[in-house]
Amino acid sequence: MSSIVLFGPPGAGKGTQAQRITGHTGYPQISTGDMLRAAVTAATPVGLEAKSFMEQGLLVPDQVIIDLIADRLKHDDAKSGVMFDGFPRTVPQAQALSSIIQISHVIAIDVPDDAIVERICGRITCGTCGTVYHERFQPVPKDGCSCGNYVESRRSDDNEEVVRSRLETYHSQTSPLADYYINKGIFHKIDGHRNIDEITSEILSILS
Ligand code: AMP
Repeated sequence: MSSIVLFGPPGAGKGTQAQRITGHTGYPQISTGDMLRAAVTAATPVGLEAKSFMEQGLLVPDQVIIDLIADRLKHDDAKSGVMFDGFPRTVPQAQALSSIIQISHVIAIDVPDDAIVERICGRITCGTCGTVYHERFQPVPKDGCSCGNYVESRRSDDNEEVVRSRLETYHSQTSPLADYYINKGIFHKIDGHRNIDEITSEILSILS
């Protein structure tokens, strides 16, 4: 089994691209952020532990994340490959992952910090199906979301103060992971400050 990692700062478009690409690869999208938000909502022990880190834009401790991923990878749909979105975020997470699964491509979506803040602060999600929109750049279609039941939802950590903290966390703890994957020869950096379709095409051409 070989799998894909979508790498990049918060708001780079990893989730949007992962949703589009799973349709082509058949790999399930595994987003640790989505898993943690579900755990917080369900008030599970993991959710209770993760909540305050998430609210402050800090990383949830590595062991919590590694256990979550190890469990998720036992599911049948993960047997032939997966697409990670927002994981790994530290070198210890990447090292733990390498003992469970083989990664064939790391796609790094590069977006400057100034653009990130603007993107995240306008981000809205359909609470029914999870499709991500943006107030200005990707508005909800006039006739509503394609799921037919648009319910506007916003992430509680999508505000400027927490975004700045998430960016700081990204630069101090996650960016160093690029070298880990560059040394393995599987790191592909792409310009994420473009039209969504162009980015999807470039990712698909890298994967083929
Ligand atoms: P995301 O949805 O990927 O932006 O993640 C939202 C928040 O969940 C992050 O700001 C972190 O607090 C936490 N989180 C998500 N993925 C990870 C991870 N791989 N390692 C540590 N914390 C994570």
